[in-house]
Amino acid sequence: MAKKKKRPGLYLSPVMAAVLAVALVGVSFGAGWFFGVRSTQFHGNILLVNDSHRLSADYVPDELVNLYTQRHSFRMASSEIYLTRQTYEAMEKMFHAAEEANMNGYIVTSGYRSYQRQQEVYAESEPGKAQQPGASEHQTGLAFDVTVETNDGFESTPQYGWLMAHAHEYGFIQRYPANKADVTGISYEPWHYRYVGVDAATRMHNSGQTLEEFLGQ
Ligand SMILES: [Zn+2]
Repeated sequence: MAKKKKRPGLYLSPVMAAVLAVALVGVSFGAGWFFGVRSTQFHGNILLVNDSHRLSADYVPDELVNLYTQRHSFRMASSEIYLTRQTYEAMEKMFHAAEEANMNGYIVTSGYRSYQRQQEVYAESEPGKAQQPGASEHQTGLAFDVTVETNDGFESTPQYGWLMAHAHEYGFIQRYPANKADVTGISYEPWHYRYVGVDAATRMHNSGQTLEEFLGQ
């Protein structure tokens, strides 16, 4: 067997290697600075926000719309609930389909929350009950909370059952499922839904993975 000849062109002197390393660090630092939140928080176009992946205080999503001013096939707990346009359009489609299936009475209680608002929520909450500022998915404008009028928990209603079966068809995942707190860092929240797009939502629905597991984080 012929021995492979070492190609002299690939040899790096220690000095050249050091220069190259410094240049690479410079380039990646520059890219990180240039792309800002995109390079640190987006994983294949999916924004991950949790305790160890936080948003900066000035992160505000593009194209927030006030749901109250749009056609909405759901009730609202307030006239001041905002989501990104894409998220709104997907949720409207979903709740319209629910209505067609005689699933009514959904009440959307919360959407986009600014970093500053989350600071207030955090300050007002008992320890461990609210996410720290920057660590709340509500700052993405891609997540909303929903419930129905019920004396039992939302999770015991047929409306919840319908969402569990169909939310992924519209690009939504239940972000904090039961028994996954060790992965998500958040205990069961049957009311919290997150937009990730139909493809990712369907894959997570079929595999039973949380967003952290799906993104390998
Ligand atoms: Zn929520």
